[in-house]
Amino acid sequence: MIGTDLLRSWMGRFAELVAEHEKELTELDSAIGDADHGANMVRGTRAVVDAFAAHPDDDIPALAKQAGMAMLSKVGGTSGPLYGTLFMSFGKALADVEEVDAKAFAEALRAGLNALVLRGRTNLEDKTMVDALSPALNTLTERIHAGDEFAAALAAARRAAEQGRDDTVAMIARKGRASYLGERSVGHMDPGAASSALLVRALEEVA
Ligand code: ADP
Ligand code: MG
Repeated sequence: MIGTDLLRSWMGRFAELVAEHEKELTELDSAIGDADHGANMVRGTRAVVDAFAAHPDDDIPALAKQAGMAMLSKVGGTSGPLYGTLFMSFGKALADVEEVDAKAFAEALRAGLNALVLRGRTNLEDKTMVDALSPALNTLTERIHAGDEFAAALAAARRAAEQGRDDTVAMIARKGRASYLGERSVGHMDPGAASSALLVRALEEVA
């Protein structure tokens, strides 16, 4: 069974990985955006960790809402509301689930991604965070249904996220600031896909 400790350690590890990779995220965003993705993500993930510390007794849905609100309110960039939507819809999907297992957790992540896609009006291969998250969640769901342990399924999901992240290099950006560059965005990795791969990696590492 999955408890609040997993969500807490997941977001804690995500904040650490983002801090470690801040420079890299900023460099990616300086090539095809406005060079603030590293700072945005550091600010947002720190706010999530602070919000969790201020709510020691919250359950998973309440904590996920805190995480979403922190990302939404503390990140100035486009990515904040999108991560915020992901976390909030993930939490909502678990509101009536008594015992959260790997399957329910993966389904809730899917609900979060669906909400993010609706909010961002994003399609696959628009060169966004969705291109890392979508293959990761497809793999996670497939592997859980095939009977894998959560940890093994997450390892496969992390590899899929990293492959999806790497695949954004060849894509033409169709959403966000990078889309202003059109064809000139080709040859650069999407910064949001890079931070999303860290989100999946953090979950793998703590599960
Ligand atoms: P901003 O673009 O406002 O400066 P960030 O730099 O923090 O915000 O985030 C940029 C990232 O947000 C992009 O790399 C991309 O992954 C993601 N993004 C932008 N627009 C969308 C969208 N419509 N749908 C999904 N992701 C998006
Ligand atoms: Mg930016």
